[in-house]
Amino acid sequence: MALTRPSQDWYQVLGAEPSDTPAELKRKYQKLALLYHPDKQEADVPAGEVEQRVQRFIEVDQAWKILGNEETKKEYDLQRRADKLTEKWPLHEQIHLEDMSWNEDEQVYTLPCRCGGNYSVFKSETKDVSLVCCDTCSLVIEILQ
Ligand SMILES: [Zn+2]
Repeated sequence: MALTRPSQDWYQVLGAEPSDTPAELKRKYQKLALLYHPDKQEADVPAGEVEQRVQRFIEVDQAWKILGNEETKKEYDLQRRADKLTEKWPLHEQIHLEDMSWNEDEQVYTLPCRCGGNYSVFKSETKDVSLVCCDTCSLVIEILQ
């Protein structure tokens, strides 16, 4: 699956958390939908404000289209998690395999991490792997092919 960065955090749009149950999500959606629904606006709300609310209503509605459906929610959660991971992982450095130490006995490439731990990639993995976690801390290196 190709991952594209979502333009919106739909949970945030609903004022919700990814850990919320479907019932909680629905409750939050309904509350906001009612608040921003174009038909529910007071007559004395200024025009600019009305437009903002309509915009919010469209976002809330869109968020619910994604999060209110089990399948699209699952897909979105996966994508969101992947995005968060790459965001959260502090990239230590980008490195070429040739710059790592080769251990013939274990058939593994290693690189010392600044925490004192090691990055290691088995030769058999090198074709599919581009990000490698340190075995001790949360740093990650990117292997350039
Ligand atoms: Zn480390």
